[in-house]
Amino acid sequence: MFVKSEGIVLKEIRFRETSKIVTIFSKEYGKVHGMAKGAYRPKNNLISITQPFSYSDFSFFKGKNFYHINQGDLKNSFYPLRENIYKLFYGSYMLELADSSIVEDESNEKLFQLLLKGLTVLSDLKGDYLKFILAYEIKYISFLGYKPYLDKCVLCGQKLEGRDMIFSIISGGILCGNCVYEDLNGFRINLSMLKTLKLLLYTPLDKLTDFKINKDIMFILHDIMVKYILYSIEKNSFNSLNLFKSIENRGGN
Ligand SMILES: [Zn+2]
Repeated sequence: MFVKSEGIVLKEIRFRETSKIVTIFSKEYGKVHGMAKGAYRPKNNLISITQPFSYSDFSFFKGKNFYHINQGDLKNSFYPLRENIYKLFYGSYMLELADSSIVEDESNEKLFQLLLKGLTVLSDLKGDYLKFILAYEIKYISFLGYKPYLDKCVLCGQKLEGRDMIFSIISGGILCGNCVYEDLNGFRINLSMLKTLKLLLYTPLDKLTDFKINKDIMFILHDIMVKYILYSIEKNSFNSLNLFKSIENRGGN
């Protein structure tokens, strides 16, 4: 059966001498594995459309275990993501996050559009990468169905007014001063961090330049978000972020 879908390549694995198996986030069918025959041969017409990040219109033949990629029209290669180390690492993290969390053969257009928009914005970004990735993380995990509860205390519903609050990963949101003892592994959070989280959740990815966030706060929130995401999708770590840590330690953003 022949099928068509837009898709973004998340991952590639070499198969035999000249072929590869690519993992694609397709708009119509969610995550699919596509066999690209001869994609390592020079001048093969599948080369450009089977690179990670590439966004294309694909034509597949749907086999028993695989989608066989017949052809495709490249819509965007997101080339700038390969030219800057921060863009490359954060972009790879976005692909790994999608690969780890989306379901096979089940479309999720909201997440597809978020990834597409994310790669587009990241491609054009000129700095402030941490703010971008933090906004992406909180939007992504919310769209996936784990939107953190930030308006009131998750447990008792009390208004969040200030002191001694924590972000509780296991409860999926903020615990007030009276409830902090319900989660001894929670992360201390103050009102301005809470405000920042909400701002990042509700501001579109291409409007983040409108405000500034203190760098220390961003590091703390990023750390909390990564742990919250890992817990929510039942994963231990992200390879892309582990690699990135050595660079981060050398400074810069
Ligand atoms: Zn409470």
